[in-house]
Amino acid sequence: MAGNGERWPDRAEWAGKIYSAGWRASEGGTRQVIEPASGHVLAEVGVASPADVAQAGVRAARAAGDWAAAFPSDRAEILLRASSALREHRDTFRDWIVRESAGVPAKGDYEIIAALAQLTHAVGLVSLPRGEVLAAQAPGGTSLAWRVPLGVVGVINPWNAPLLFAMRALAPALALGNAVLLKPDPLTPVSGGVLVARLFEDAGLPDGVLHVLPGGAETGQAVAADPHVAMVSFTGSTEAGRAVARVAGEGLKRVSLELGGKNSLVVLEDADVAAAALAGAVSTFGYQGQACVAAGRHLVHADLVEAYTDALVGHARSMRVGDPRVEGVTVGPVISARQADRVERIVDASVAGGARVLTGGRRDGLFYPPTVLDHIDRAMPVFTEEIFGPVAPVLSFHSEAEAVEIANDTAYGLTAAVHSGSVPRATAVAGQLRTGMVHINDVSAKDAANAPFGGMGISGNGSRIGGTASLEEFTQWRWMTAPGPV
Ligand code: NAD
Repeated sequence: MAGNGERWPDRAEWAGKIYSAGWRASEGGTRQVIEPASGHVLAEVGVASPADVAQAGVRAARAAGDWAAAFPSDRAEILLRASSALREHRDTFRDWIVRESAGVPAKGDYEIIAALAQLTHAVGLVSLPRGEVLAAQAPGGTSLAWRVPLGVVGVINPWNAPLLFAMRALAPALALGNAVLLKPDPLTPVSGGVLVARLFEDAGLPDGVLHVLPGGAETGQAVAADPHVAMVSFTGSTEAGRAVARVAGEGLKRVSLELGGKNSLVVLEDADVAAAALAGAVSTFGYQGQACVAAGRHLVHADLVEAYTDALVGHARSMRVGDPRVEGVTVGPVISARQADRVERIVDASVAGGARVLTGGRRDGLFYPPTVLDHIDRAMPVFTEEIFGPVAPVLSFHSEAEAVEIANDTAYGLTAAVHSGSVPRATAVAGQLRTGMVHINDVSAKDAANAPFGGMGISGNGSRIGGTASLEEFTQWRWMTAPGPV
């Protein structure tokens, strides 16, 4: 990735540019992409200014009509070709995900597999029935209602799963006949933007249907405000989600918000403690805890808490921290100094308030080791805030009711996991948790292309992405009547 000799994608084509009906220079200048593990400059991409976004909006609106009118099978064919191109270039995708987002290669593979599933699932969306024949109000008349594309969809994404989050919005939006303005995070514009544009270019997507507009909050605001954008699909923090919703609300646009979480992994006293601790370790330490669906609270029955905590500490200590490209490393650096500062602040303030560090708890630059804390008080930031780092606060409880009460003691409501030897019992507890997703005897961090992903409370605005929910999200109703048959 030194800059020369790359077969695909040809760097000379995209370096320093944005993608908007072809690769072009931007008014917003350029921005370097830095590898978190080494500090090396990996690339330079174009930054889309508000004026670039406005031009992209015009181009997208122009292209959207023909794309919406294309045969569904032609749209499906392009998605299938994008899927083949992703398989063909999977090593390139993995390398970029590893280097840009600082995940281990298995994280890159996971994103690729999940992105492929999104494409496959979107092909299926193309053929779903989309309408209803209604009883007409006059004899012999016609009354039809069906879903039509929205037009231009703006997609604003974070850095933590750049390829997967791009694809989970793009694939259904395109399949259902929309054009898309994609704004990747400035930290991961290549795996979350440039490579995605190249895939669809290779797949033969008509010019102007997809635009990739790297940039920060200003670019995101311009996408949300653009008069041609009918809907904004946002994934990121609750704070930025609010800012996007304010702007989009002013334009009376549809907004889909997939936001943060403070997710509990609940371990009842009849659980398999080893399996629960492994699920807990994966849910909190995987990809350095930088997932909206990471477990941010480990709630363990008092009878098991010692055994569970010992096992969790064992997993934490067995994980090797370092450059994710080095074999055997399972925990890379957190994405940025800002993120490392945040994790440090949350842990240090909690320790100052009486939390006990059982392992970890001290950073080395961007490298934050898997950390287990107990003696947790509910006023501590480690309990109240989304951490987004490899930190597991462990709390004990004495009854199911207490476990449910602690788990629901948050304004977030994204996901949860419940562990028990009895699946019906775990299911009953799960039913009392106020979350959009819940998993029995499993990790908290799951997603599937055919499932409606999303949260309650401040984890979202009631929207869901994935499965047939995407059909609702990325289309709108039209009702038509005629006095006779049509
Ligand atoms: P962030 O909200 O700072 O950034 C996300 C995206 O929004 C980026 O593209 C950023 O440039 C853009 N942005 C930031 N401020 C903006 C503004 N005022 N107007 C328009 N766009 C703006 O997110 P982050 O902190 O980098 O990412 C982590 C957060 O994302 C966590 O809270 C995590 O839980 C959440 N997340 C949620 C999901 C989900 O599906 N629910 C998935 C992954 C991450």
